[in-house]
Amino acid sequence: KLSGRLEKVASFITKDATFADIGSDHAYLPCYVCLHDEYARAIAGEVNEGPFQSAKDTVDSHGLSDRVDVRLGNGLQVLHEDEVQLLVMAGMGGALITTILDEGKDRISSVERIVAQPNIDERTVRHWLYTCGFTITNETMIEENGHIYEIIVGDKESGTQTLTEKELLFGPHLLEQKPLQFYKKWEHEYAKRNRIIKQMKKASVPDPEKIAVFEKELTWIEEVLD
Ligand code: SAM
Repeated sequence: KLSGRLEKVASFITKDATFADIGSDHAYLPCYVCLHDEYARAIAGEVNEGPFQSAKDTVDSHGLSDRVDVRLGNGLQVLHEDEVQLLVMAGMGGALITTILDEGKDRISSVERIVAQPNIDERTVRHWLYTCGFTITNETMIEENGHIYEIIVGDKESGTQTLTEKELLFGPHLLEQKPLQFYKKWEHEYAKRNRIIKQMKKASVPDPEKIAVFEKELTWIEEVLD
């Protein structure tokens, strides 16, 4: 059974797509999608040998080796030019996701949609998407095993989206919809930032600029939770 988190990620994969799942680990996601969509095809990319072997085992055990191609390599280097329409990057930090995207920009000219599920630092991912020609068309949240995850969908669309600093932090769609998990996450983040500010103020050489950034974010959180 696929985790609720990956099931949500899968729900944004277009029907019959040829997609890449980079950092696929066990390749659970591409196998699930291909088992539910007979015309879907996938490339599962992994940089580490252990997960690469696990991915191959999962694919073989489902008899999907003709539709899920498991490849060993760093980031988007496993892709040939114009090979996929859709890219999934889930379960990694936002900074790693954007580094992988930056390093492989020449491989993704055919990509129409990016589905990202950063474990942390969602803001970085939103910033990358909207500065690199992708419009954030959908966002959702899911709580699993005590963690709240955000899923961000970017589509290559004409017209440029402009996002405010606040939208980059909270997510333009999440800010509008404010699902239940949104309140839970940001109440937690509020408390966390409060603690950090207190610690920073106690430091032997406090950094007023950093403190100001956190204080500004505290005000924003107060506003959105209001
Ligand atoms: N995507 C799966 C999920 O969401 O459950 C697995 C997430 S797992 C925490 C992250 C995976 O990304 C690991 O298996 C790791 O080996 C892989 N990874 C990390 N850096 C990578 C890179 N530069 N290129 C490809 N895979 C990478």
